[in-house]
Amino acid sequence: MKCEAGGESDVENLSGRYGYYLRCRACNQTQNSPQKCEVCDAKAKLRKKGPCFYRDCEACGSPRLVHTNPTPAEG
Ligand SMILES: [Zn+2]
Ligand SMILES: [Zn+2]
Repeated sequence: MKCEAGGESDVENLSGRYGYYLRCRACNQTQNSPQKCEVCDAKAKLRKKGPCFYRDCEACGSPRLVHTNPTPAEG
């Protein structure tokens, strides 16, 4: 997943009121996380497991790792 504004891949998935969204750590832009399969474009949900995000696509059959959140920059 990438930032739509600047194309950076330094993005993290966060959960908000309307589902997951992406925040760019470079330019602070936010955007909705795509709710479709990266492979076949079918509508598919995102599932979080720890820092890893999987796409469950019925058409493709198996969950696919699509994003891993970077380690939070704290302290
Ligand atoms: Zn950006
Ligand atoms: Zn698919």
